[in-house]
Parts: sequence; C-alpha cells; structure tokens
Amino acid sequence: MVPETRTPTKAGAAHLMTQPTITRHPHGIFAVDTEYMRPGLAAAHIIEHDGRAAFVDVGTTHSVPYLLAALDELGIPRAAVDYVILTHVHLDHAGGAGSLMQALPNAKAVLHPRGAPHLIEPAKLIAGSRAVYGEEVFDRLYGEIIPIAADHVVTTKDTQRIELAGRPLELIHTPGHALHHQCVVDLQFSAVFTGDTFGLSYREFDTARGAFIVPTTTPTQFDPEQLTASIDRIASHQTESVYLMHYSRVTDVPRLAGALKAQVLQFVDIARRHRGAADMKSAIMKDMRQLWLMLLREHGCTLSEARIDELLETDLDLNAQGLVVWLERQKRAA
Ligand SMILES: [Zn+2]
Repeated sequence: MVPETRTPTKAGAAHLMTQPTITRHPHGIFAVDTEYMRPGLAAAHIIEHDGRAAFVDVGTTHSVPYLLAALDELGIPRAAVDYVILTHVHLDHAGGAGSLMQALPNAKAVLHPRGAPHLIEPAKLIAGSRAVYGEEVFDRLYGEIIPIAADHVVTTKDTQRIELAGRPLELIHTPGHALHHQCVVDLQFSAVFTGDTFGLSYREFDTARGAFIVPTTTPTQFDPEQLTASIDRIASHQTESVYLMHYSRVTDVPRLAGALKAQVLQFVDIARRHRGAADMKSAIMKDMRQLWLMLLREHGCTLSEARIDELLETDLDLNAQGLVVWLERQKRAA
C-alpha cells in the first residue's frame, strides 16, 4: 500500500516538469523549447514527413525528457525517428544527442566530418566547454555528455542529400560560426535550418518591422569572412523560412542577411579598436551593447534596457570571448 504522505517519486516529479513547449510551423516542422537557460532561448526542431521524423539539433542532456515528451505529444513513435541531424557540436545544440539516441532505436546522427569525432569521443569537447563556461555553470547547463556510438554516425559531404520518407534534405557546409558547421536545406518546402550560422533572433524583439537578428561569434572558430560567405550562401537559396536554434522561424531572409553581414563588419571594427587593450573583453562588450541598444531602438523595440540586457547578456559575453579569441588567432597568424 502506498503511504499517503509520500513525496512524489523521481519519475513522477520528472513527468510533471516535462511539459514540452511546442511551436507548430508549416510543412510538418515543429520547434521544441530545449529549456536551456530560459524559455524561448533555444529550439530543437522536428521535421515530420509521411510517418517518419528527423531532429535538427537537440539541446543538452537536460533537454532530452522534453524532446521525448514532444514526440509523444505529436504522436511520433520513437522508432519513426530516422535522423538526429546536428548542425554543429556546441553543447547547447548537440550535448544531448548521445542521451537522446539511446531512446531512438533507428536514428542515425548526421554530422559534418570535422564534428563527428567530438561526439564519438567527447572528452576534448567537454574540456573546451568547461574552459568557456567554468566548472559550476557547465555542470548545471549540460550535465553528463553521453558519447554516440561510431556506427550510429553518418558524416556528410557538402551538398549531400538525405531523404526523410522521400523528402530531400540537403546538407551544406557553412563555416564561420564553427568550422564544422552544416545547415539543412529543406528543398521541397523552401526552408533552411541554420543552427547558429544565420545568427540569433529572439521572439521578444519582434516588432512591427519584423524580426531582429544578431550574429553569434562564440569561441573558438569565429571567422568573419567565412561567416559572411555562409550567410550569403543561405540567402542564395531564396528560402521562405529560416529556422534558427535561437529562436526558431524567421522570414524576410534578404533583410536579415543584410543586417547580419553589417553587424559582422561592425563587430570586426569593434574588436580591432580594442586590440591590445588591458581588458579587451570588457571593452568589446561595452561597444557591442551600445550597438545592439541603438539597433534595437531603430527597430522599434520598446523593452527596458534592463530587460534587453537580461535577454542578451549571455550572447554579449560569448560574442566578446569569441572576438578576443579571433584577435589572438590573427595575432598568431601574423
Ligand atoms: Zn554554436
């Protein structure tokens, strides 16, 4: 007999906490909030087609219960998931892939060949991320990183196509945010899933002018020329929709591509202006914050500065770190 005063079981508590937030987009595309840091920050996408499904990016190990609950809510059996496509191996995108795949008997992880080794043997990736985030934050954000078995990994060539129940998905290699970054072109339905290559656009910043977008220059492989070329390449597909990890669907792609490329140039200017400063990171953050506040006001954003800071503070920090790493890489190359 169950005592009346018992506390909820672990499983019971987990169940109560895993109500997934799902956004339903056209053409069998769903965004699932990975519950990373705050609601509305990171979206894993599910593409469902003729009874088969694919994930594009998955979030962290802590996201996995939400993703499995989303499959249940959408009526997609776990055995119907054919692919776990990972745009790149940054842990907010791919940290939970190994854990998720343990629950998906038929799924293959689809990775850029330079990214795959980091998830098959994640020790180096974990060490690198601990260096960026610090030990305490790393544990809270990411938890345990489960490796993916090598025979469950498919590596891609640029422009390679895979089929989801006959729906062609083209993988294009898009360096700039990370060397091993790839995007997924949904040829039939005019969409591109861009991971972090096409920047970040939080829905809180939407105004009558549409979406507001910023590039992400997270350490350690930001490269402005590569990023600009990759943004052009995504825009050249004349796609109706772009699906970002942070956060999900945007349209008006030519305008957003222009805004991203302009900011990449401004970031480079900001970084160069503070090259050799005593505290490069703080100086870069200060100028980038001013730039974003100005652009947001031009965009018609009426949120308070405190709220804007809250929404962008992590990106400001990571972007500044990435620009410092880029400056140091340039110095070594010179
Ligand atoms: Zn990233």
